[in-house]
Amino acid sequence: MSTQQQPVEAESSVEGLTRREAGRWLVAALGAAACRVVPGFAAQQVPALSSVMTVRGPVKPKQLGFTLPHEHVLITHIGPAVDLTDEDLAARELGLYRAAGGRTLVCMTNIGIKRDPPALRRISDRTDLQIVMGAGFYKDKWQTPETRALSTEALLEIMLRDLQKGADGTEVRAGVLGEIGVGHPRTEFEERVLRAAARAQRATGVGMIVHFDIAIPLAEHMEALDILESEGASLTRVAISHLLPADNGPQHLEALARRGCFLAYDFFGIEVWIRKLAKTSLDTHVEAIRRQIDKGLLKNLLFSQDVCSLKQLVANGGYGYAHIIRNVLPKLRAAGVTAGQIDEITVQNPRRLLAGV
Ligand SMILES: [Zn+2]
Repeated sequence: MSTQQQPVEAESSVEGLTRREAGRWLVAALGAAACRVVPGFAAQQVPALSSVMTVRGPVKPKQLGFTLPHEHVLITHIGPAVDLTDEDLAARELGLYRAAGGRTLVCMTNIGIKRDPPALRRISDRTDLQIVMGAGFYKDKWQTPETRALSTEALLEIMLRDLQKGADGTEVRAGVLGEIGVGHPRTEFEERVLRAAARAQRATGVGMIVHFDIAIPLAEHMEALDILESEGASLTRVAISHLLPADNGPQHLEALARRGCFLAYDFFGIEVWIRKLAKTSLDTHVEAIRRQIDKGLLKNLLFSQDVCSLKQLVANGGYGYAHIIRNVLPKLRAAGVTAGQIDEITVQNPRRLLAGV
């Protein structure tokens, strides 16, 4: 997982390839091997995608650009004082992210927290943002008794319908699995959802983003990864959500990275709503991230803000959807993280999660 720059050398043809091309090929091949071969676990592969489905149709992986991999455009999960239900407000807030240089946003609102495919498409039209919509089921507690009773096969069928035909009776298709809800402790329903999501990934090649509650023991993360792997998921296309760079502990984070999955630091700015997350400063998190990059975790990192409450919006004094671009990345640059490394985390890693390339 080296991030060394290719030395610039004179073009000189060797067996049809220039030395520079041959060098690039070798670096790419070694990089792919380093990411995929995880000692002790069978390396699973799901097919890479030639396009990623957004709410306005497919886009080429290269067109994704700067991507926030875990946000909510609209969500109903707690109550009117918290939930995001105003389409005009959402469009205004997302417009600020677009204006700051954002290109793509993954909306993790799925079954249980009121997904609204036509609204997402309208907001995408208004903001010219590429929005990738989630398939699958949020946590047990947010589901109806009927949904909780569904078999693994029935859950899989719904996920495949949402990904391949259209979600919730519309033609708007999901482009990713998530957020797949796993509570603490995990329920039987949530385990069936994990199994179905793994099978859906194997069948379609889409990325998967899994919600875990904050500060759970490593064993619970590992058990869920074991379940996914046993059903054929590719852990290199799975993101572990709601990790905190300085609070989860280096051993915990490195153990997850060794399984090949993404570490999703998706709580930047959420402390305006969840006060207990303000205990560790942004500077401390930035320093932890810099150390992790030095240790070779660059290709495992994802950044997002999990905007899911009114308090997080700019209109209400929060940081909004452009917090990472405006406030987090400048701190990383000041700490010595290079432009290439930031591009890896904010453009290339989300693209590998979503498309496998
Ligand atoms: Zn979540």
